[in-house]
Order: sequence, then C-alpha cells, then structure tokens
Amino acid sequence: MPDGRHQPGPTDKCGVVGVSLDGREAARPLYYSLYALQHRGQESAGVVTHDGFQQHSHVDLGLVGDAFDAEDLESLSGADGIGHVRYPTAGSLDASCAQPFSVSFKSGSLGLSHNGNLVNTDEVRAELAARGHAFTSDGDTEVIAHDLARNLLEADLVRAVKRTMTRIHGSYSLSIMHDDTVLGVRDPQGNRPLCVGELDDGYMLASESAAIDVLDGDLVRDVAPGELVVLRPEGRGFDSYQLVDADDTAHCFFEHVYFARPDSRIDDSLVYDVRRELGRKLWAESGVESDVVLPVPDSGRAFASGYADAAQRNGADVEFAEGLMKNRYVGRTFIMPTQDARERAVRLKLNPITDVVEGRTVTVIDDSIVRGTTSSQLVQLLREAGAEAVHMRIGSPPIVAPCYMGIDMASREELIAADEDVASISEAIDADSLAYLSIDAVADALGESRADLCLGCVTGEYPYDVDGEATDREVARPDIDGAEAGVVDGD
Ligand code: AMP
Repeated sequence: MPDGRHQPGPTDKCGVVGVSLDGREAARPLYYSLYALQHRGQESAGVVTHDGFQQHSHVDLGLVGDAFDAEDLESLSGADGIGHVRYPTAGSLDASCAQPFSVSFKSGSLGLSHNGNLVNTDEVRAELAARGHAFTSDGDTEVIAHDLARNLLEADLVRAVKRTMTRIHGSYSLSIMHDDTVLGVRDPQGNRPLCVGELDDGYMLASESAAIDVLDGDLVRDVAPGELVVLRPEGRGFDSYQLVDADDTAHCFFEHVYFARPDSRIDDSLVYDVRRELGRKLWAESGVESDVVLPVPDSGRAFASGYADAAQRNGADVEFAEGLMKNRYVGRTFIMPTQDARERAVRLKLNPITDVVEGRTVTVIDDSIVRGTTSSQLVQLLREAGAEAVHMRIGSPPIVAPCYMGIDMASREELIAADEDVASISEAIDADSLAYLSIDAVADALGESRADLCLGCVTGEYPYDVDGEATDREVARPDIDGAEAGVVDGD
C-alpha cells in the first residue's frame, strides 16, 4: 500500500442472472443468458439450479461455451436457477472465487451470484468468524452468503435480506437462490445494474437487458436501488420490497461508457444512445478540424459516429471511416499481465488501413484512456501508416483514481491521468492534440445529476466509505461491532 490508501480488492466486475420458469428446465435459458453477458466476465461461468428437492451446481473456469457441455446442462435439473460470469483479474485463475457460490446451511440451501464489490468485507467476515463461521475463500460473496444464512435462522426471507443489506456496505447486484426461490437485490445506491424481464413462461433477473433479449423476453424494469425482487414460483410473476433507502443513487457511469453492451438498456437509457450522445458532446466541447474521424474498434464506435454526426451537422467537411481493423481473436488487452505483453497485444489487435489514413489528418475516438497503452500505440501506428496529424478525443473524463466498486481499472500508479495533466498526457502519447469529455457532459448525456452518479474514478471521491479515500456524500458504514447481531430498526 504505497500511499497508505486501501487497495482495490479482488474485482467482481461480473454478470448475474436468475430465472423462474413454469415447468421448463432453467439450465439452458440460464446458459444462453450468460452467453449474452460474456463481455462482463471471461474467467469463470456457473449455474446453480434447484429442482424442488435439492440444489444442483456446475461452475468452471473459462468462457461460457467452454465451461458447460451438454451433460453438465442435463445434470442441472429444476425450473429455477441463477448464473454468473466472472471477470478475470491479472494472473488470478482462482477456482475458489468462481460463482455462483453455493452452500447448504441449517436454514436451507443458498446460491449467490454477485456483481460489485463490498468495502466492509473484512469487518463482516471477522464478526461472523468470531461466531464460528468458517470461510473457504477471501471473497466478499461468501461473506454475504454466510450473513444471509445466519439471518435466515432467525427471520423470514425478506427480513433476513434486509438485515444483511444493513450490515454490508458497498456495491452489489445479487441474484440469489434460497432453496427454490430466486431473488434479486440491488444495493441502496444502485451502483451496478440489475433488471427484471418477463418471458413467455416465467420471469428473470439479469445484469443487462441484452440477456433478456436472447431469451425473447421483455424488459419489465430496472430493479430499484435498495429493492428486493422475489420471483414467484412457476413463473407466476414477482414481488417487490423496497428494503433500504438512500438519499441519492450512485450509478456507475462507466457501465454506459465502456462496460455494458450497447444494445442494453440500463437505468432507463439505451447504452448505444448514451454513447452517441457522448460523442456529440465531445464534438461540441472539443471538436477539431480533420479529414477523417476513426473509431477505435469496438469501444469507440458509437462515440465516433455521434462525434462525426455532430461535426457534419455543423458543416465540418469530415469523413467517418473505419480506418482501424480489429483482430477479434485477441483477448482484451487488460488480461495481459505485463506492460510489454499489453503493448504487443495492442499491435496484434489493431491494424490501420493505410489507404484511409495516408496523407490525411485524422481524429481518433475512444471511450477512455486508462494506462495510456492503447492510445500511445495507436498514435504511433497511424503515423507509421502516413497520417499527417493525429488528434485523440476521449468520450469520458480522465481516469484519475482506481475503482473499488467492481471495475478493474488499474491502480493509481498505473493510471496515466492520476498525476499527469491533459497536456502532458498528450505529449506522452505523442498526439497532435488530446481532449477528454467533461464530467458535466457525462451526467447530461445520462440524464442524471452528478449527485446520482458514482464518479469515484474521475474525481477520487467515492459514494461509499472506502478506507483511506474521500467520499462525495454522507455515507455511513454499518457499525458492525456496536450493532447487536442481526437486529435492525424496523425489522
Ligand atoms: P489503456 O490502453 O490502458 O489506456 O486502456 C484504454 C483501452 O482499454 C480503451 O480502448 C478502453 O476501451 C479499454 N478499457 C477501458 N476500461 C477498461 C477496463 N476496465 N477493462 C478493460 N479494458 C478497458
């Protein structure tokens, strides 16, 4: 901990699903919906079902298509189930963290899928360990499962979830299975997405609406911050309980900027529309004259089309072209453990089309700069391909601080904007000019006030109480030591 600050824990930038169907087996729908969420996690995939008598679980490392074969899906019997895809952290291929986490307690069987990151895991774990709970992983999901199991010994399902929600602090969207009941919970500030969908023969929960689309379902609505949604058995609808309220939400803007699929609708806005709007705002704030606008595929595409659209509408004589080709078989650059490997991966991944850029001035649009590896490599490649000038425009503000809420964003030491201003970053990546989008433009494009967004990575002030970091609001971590175990007001 070089600067005394808390370091981000094992990241849980993941995808979760849950279904309850009328008679039909849940395993295949869960499998297909996890395919739709593959971008949210490639390290492991898992499904837990319940057939009314017992729980069945299959969890394995790797992509969804590799983690399950036909026999695995056959063995997952039952019309109710949950699933999970887990994001890879550099160098960690740890089966003990794969999810859904499943376990049987005196209070029944539990399965748990988590997207997000708690910031008081150690406190809750220590308190539970002192009461005799034994843990098999150092992850926060197991801590949530144990706390819930303990509360289920003393309270019904809804009260038990409420008690757990008042003890854990941080970011969580959960799909949970208690025996054969499927439920979804979103933390009181709604940091990570979660929505409810209706199918022909049942209901489902998913991190993103694209997972509902693949099952030919309809998005019903987002799960509200602090809400518990319980799917009724046999696909007969769902019940809603608003369990914990917060003054403001803390939606992660980076879901819309980078992480979520463009065809998903999150917190009432289509990700694709938001990205196009961010691109238009980028032109309005820092448009620059050039012959051609190029997206960095695939992350910059919607931004660049919005940017070019605004430029052309404002009379700029600029072409929109795909001047960078992507090799889709190269993994995300972030999986590469070393800087050298990351640099090579960018070169393998992106290749300029010389005819599009040679002798021309180009504006390259990407969604974000993290370490600066991609942009500095790109500027060099475009110059080698004959570009006369290379301007970089970025559809989000400079990332100055790490994410503790579940996105693997690199540490402060690695973030190029943590201690360099825009002019020196421009120089470092050797661009002719560089501009980022303002925070206000992001809030505007999302149709939310700044107070309702988690802006931790771009301001260094977080909406949760993270050890050693500043907060941007009144947030109180539960006082675990002082609290009488398991009892909360209004229980
Ligand atoms: P960098 O090369 O480190 O500056 O990273 C920027 C590139 O990585 C951009 O093209 C982004 O689309 C992409 N990116 C941004 N955030 C993440 C993330 N959390 N995980 C993986 N890739 C990311």
